[in-house]
Amino acid sequence: MVASSKTLTNNETDDLVNALVRKDVLNMVPYQSARREQSGGSCWLNANEAGNSNDLSVNLQNLNRYPDFQPQQLISAYADYAGVDNNQVLATRGADEGIEVLIRTFCETASNNKNAGNSDSIIICPPTYGMYAISAKGHAANIITLPLTNDLQLDLDGLTANKDNAKIVFICSPNNPTGDVIKRDDIISTLELFKNSALVVVDEAYIEFCPEFSTVTLLNDYPNLVILRTLSKAFALAGLRCGFTLASHNIIEMMAKIIAPYPISNPVSAIASQALTADLALMQQRVDSTNQLNQHIASFLDAQPWLVKRFSSKTNYILFQADNAQQIFAALVEHGVLIRNQSSQLGLNNCLRVSIGSIEELELFKNAVNNFNSNQQSGS
Ligand SMILES: *Cc1c(COP(=O)(O)O)cnc(C)c1O
Repeated sequence: MVASSKTLTNNETDDLVNALVRKDVLNMVPYQSARREQSGGSCWLNANEAGNSNDLSVNLQNLNRYPDFQPQQLISAYADYAGVDNNQVLATRGADEGIEVLIRTFCETASNNKNAGNSDSIIICPPTYGMYAISAKGHAANIITLPLTNDLQLDLDGLTANKDNAKIVFICSPNNPTGDVIKRDDIISTLELFKNSALVVVDEAYIEFCPEFSTVTLLNDYPNLVILRTLSKAFALAGLRCGFTLASHNIIEMMAKIIAPYPISNPVSAIASQALTADLALMQQRVDSTNQLNQHIASFLDAQPWLVKRFSSKTNYILFQADNAQQIFAALVEHGVLIRNQSSQLGLNNCLRVSIGSIEELELFKNAVNNFNSNQQSGS
């Protein structure tokens, strides 16, 4: 299927978003913080801040002031990086907050729902990232589960059968924890299926490792497309807590009513803006070396006597299935090497996921595995 090349009109996106958003949110005026209400001026006595923070032992500028709701420099930097307009970007505390705010913005809970007292639903496609379900439960939204097919792709029949049953479809591509991308044609089919009934959220947390698979070029064709991004993975800034939601400006506007009034602190904004401009080349180098290490670890895993299956990965982690996954996992823990046991996920019995860390970390991983192998041979 080929995306239509027309660009959306404002009316088209307005109508859809107004129909999908929670009624309370549609009519809501966002909290008018001092920063949102007034800008400019030279003497700021409108937000109950301290006049300065020179007496603190940390030496950072402007910590006494509330941040802008959405710091312009940061929004412009991400919009430039992603190739979208500024009004198509919402900065969040990690992509996780994007997930949470989407559900709170679009899913009516039972008590509020004119639709026979049922909560709205999200669709998830496991095995996949766990936070979609957690955030849904936290908001009392229903969860429709449509497992990925055997080749780890979308169940298009299941999606078709549920095309009028959900407000949000979450698609993770590349998928965590399996590691491969969802076919672009299937994502387009899903956008078409739900174009009058639900948002289709494509979680691109790992897209820097395979940027050619991004759906960002579809944004101007599909008013129901939402893309989640983060600085936690390829940008190496998980501790910063900074992510982005990319969507039509109408969707961003609705989410902006629900998100906290100051989600991005001044230091976060300064560090993230730097990472997205002056340090962008560093991210690229990190991606290149990670992708090389990925191949190296893939070959290492392929040579293991206990390997049942290695999943193909376009990310900074590799999922693999082993005869004796529990034993391997425990042996690594004994060496202080922590990997993730995914065995409790749907269809992922005896599956372990290793992150592509630094060369030094991966040496420790390989040593621990080799050690496990020789202990097996010697029967100890
Ligand atoms: C890590 C991850 C996130 C969350 O990222 P943060 O920006 O750190 O909140 C979201 N989605 C997927 C698939 C992830 O793996």
